[in-house]
Amino acid sequence: METKFDIVVIGSGPGGYASAIRCSQLGYKTALVEKYKALGGTCTNVGCIPTKALLDSTEHYHTAETKFATHGILTGKLSLDFKQLIKRKGEVVEQNIAGLNFLMKKNKIEVFEGIGSFLNNSELNVKHNDGNSTKITSTYFIIATGSKPATIPGVEIDKQRIITSTEALSLPEKPKSIVIIGGGVIGVEMASIYARIGVEITIIEYFDSLIPTMDKDLGKELKKIFTKQNIKILLSHKVQSAKNNGKNATVSFLDASNNPQEITADYCLVAVGRKPYTEGLGLENTNIEVDTKGRIVTNEKLQTKAENIYAIGDVVAGAMLAHKAEEEGIFVAETINGQKPHINYKLIPGVVYTWPEVASVGYTEEELKEKGIEYRVGKFPFSASARARAAMEKDGFSKILSDPKYGELLGMHVIGPRAADLIAQGVIGMEYEVTDEDMFRISYAHPTYSETLKEAYMIASGQGAINI
Ligand code: FAD
Ligand code: NAD
Repeated sequence: METKFDIVVIGSGPGGYASAIRCSQLGYKTALVEKYKALGGTCTNVGCIPTKALLDSTEHYHTAETKFATHGILTGKLSLDFKQLIKRKGEVVEQNIAGLNFLMKKNKIEVFEGIGSFLNNSELNVKHNDGNSTKITSTYFIIATGSKPATIPGVEIDKQRIITSTEALSLPEKPKSIVIIGGGVIGVEMASIYARIGVEITIIEYFDSLIPTMDKDLGKELKKIFTKQNIKILLSHKVQSAKNNGKNATVSFLDASNNPQEITADYCLVAVGRKPYTEGLGLENTNIEVDTKGRIVTNEKLQTKAENIYAIGDVVAGAMLAHKAEEEGIFVAETINGQKPHINYKLIPGVVYTWPEVASVGYTEEELKEKGIEYRVGKFPFSASARARAAMEKDGFSKILSDPKYGELLGMHVIGPRAADLIAQGVIGMEYEVTDEDMFRISYAHPTYSETLKEAYMIASGQGAINI
């Protein structure tokens, strides 16, 4: 087996595998080291893909339960096969892993299964599951070891009753109730999955809004929608501890007036963020430094303090998103190749796959206020869209923020059907610095959800909407 490479990538998540493929395409002899048998990292195995599989299944169920009769579709008594729901999710994950195995072969990437640990700046020990090790050497390394769930003081994750998103994706049976600590992205996606199939959900969030890092209007609207779905939301509440009682878990917290309270549910899901993962990587044997949050320190080229070693994705600073990790993986491969790639971090879209979906790019209104940047707002509700009415999808809005002088787009924030796909238009518009007027003076197919964007651009530009 070959053990000398041009580039070795450690970690096979969306950052690592995309980077390895680009390195190989650029002519480098490339290896990929992954500690698990299955390639794909968090995203493929316990993140993006399985959550979206469960979100799709449960949304179908919810639609059948709440909307079919209005459409004139009568199904008889609806029931849920929870084990099949989880099984299908597993099959979707398997299909994606098979796709990655194919891509590694196609691109002639040598895959090593085992834990990669630096011996020095140019040698890596790979400890295999059978206890044997292989020493590999390389001119360059790319660290893409991702992240793991974080917790808060007083809450110890035991994976039995006090669980993370990973366990929540494979519960043995449908629970009666779940209390979720954290109303961020994982919290609201998991709340959606389980509330739609009749699980009693309580979200306890420290800040005064759901998805608090996004534009505040989005969190407000999502709260209204979740309340209609019977999800209990406790904002400005601070969790203090969680206890496994054997058959359930009790979470103790301070309410908004600082009164102590507690809730008992079948499970307590901890969704308070993730932390970079560098355990066992042997960083102490290199020049690499980590910051106070445990993230690998890099320069603008994503190069660590050891100049032949780069780091990307969740293990470095920035949004913990699969597409950000992928962009960085390709960026580093091209940088090593002497090219001058570019990532516009302000234009990495954020999407929350609730239904309706939430999607955002550019500045939020709160950021513009804080920075003292003047802006104008164009907001158009889905209830005024003919397409949305036809589909019974009247919740949400498209919101555009633009510069009052030239009309340049500053932010796009959408909560509504297919927001995840609509946001791509905002990314293009902002990357190429077009104006709100440019964006509405093009033709939008009728009837489509995208027309809500056209109307929002018209309002932002000051020219007024047609349909409101
Ligand atoms: P990871 O995907 O975490 O991969 C790192 C890999 O490195 C792992 O396979 C790990 O086993 C391996 N590794 C670690 N240490 C070593 C070592 N020493 N030797 C060998 N291998 C090692 N993002 C989105 O953009 N969209 C979504 O819809 C989305 N949904 C999510 C849902 C959930 C429930 C979660 C938890 C996350 C979600 N994310 C989503 C975030 C996304 O999964 C991460 O941002 C992304 O996976 C980061 O990619 P990465 O390549 O940096 O690391
Ligand atoms: P997050 O940072 O999105 O949300 C964590 C939430 O927990 C925050 O709202 C925070 O205020 C709250 N919190 C913290 N301490 C608390 C306390 N003591 N009591 C109550 N609430 C508390 O993190 P997450 O939801 O765990 O997700 C982790 C990462 O995974 C995120 O960075 C996200 O980007 C990524 N992810 C992305 C997607 C997607 O792109 N659709 C989906 C899931 C996860």
